[in-house]
Amino acid sequence: MESKKSVVSSFDVDHLTLKEGLYLRSVYKINDTLAVHSWDMRFRAPMAHAPLGSGEVHTIEHLMAYYLRLDPVIGASVVSFCPMGCKTGFYLSTMNNVDAAQIRAALARVYKQVFPIKSKDDIVGLNEVQCGNPGLYAVASTNEAMAHYMRCLYTREEAEAAGIGSIYNCEWQ
Ligand SMILES: [Zn+2]
Repeated sequence: MESKKSVVSSFDVDHLTLKEGLYLRSVYKINDTLAVHSWDMRFRAPMAHAPLGSGEVHTIEHLMAYYLRLDPVIGASVVSFCPMGCKTGFYLSTMNNVDAAQIRAALARVYKQVFPIKSKDDIVGLNEVQCGNPGLYAVASTNEAMAHYMRCLYTREEAEAAGIGSIYNCEWQ
């Protein structure tokens, strides 16, 4: 049977075989000039893994939306960072032809700077003025989720070289 043509690009992905990782999902052209790249930062393999918890999703959203924009290489090119409703990952949108290697390197810089978080106080913007639900967060399980994701992007040797060897050692435990 012919499958319906999808107008949402993520619906064209076979989620039964999708693994954790960083994927370029689509490129949107705005006014035929500005190319916006939509990246799938998949933290959990759909169906194979339990999804992230709501506290983890919210915590990662706050930290990544803030710190990725401060990154010296890709920060000025970040358009948005948003959680997936299915809680298996996040969408990162960029402009200026940022590539996957640059995003991967930026993630290592942010990880090195921010993780592991120690308490609620490390979660930027988590207050009643700046956030709609500041009681929703997680510390230990967010550290675990981020380390797990980074292990998908970095081998042990690459992690050591990037200064994030703790993703394999889990020194905070
Ligand atoms: Zn919030």
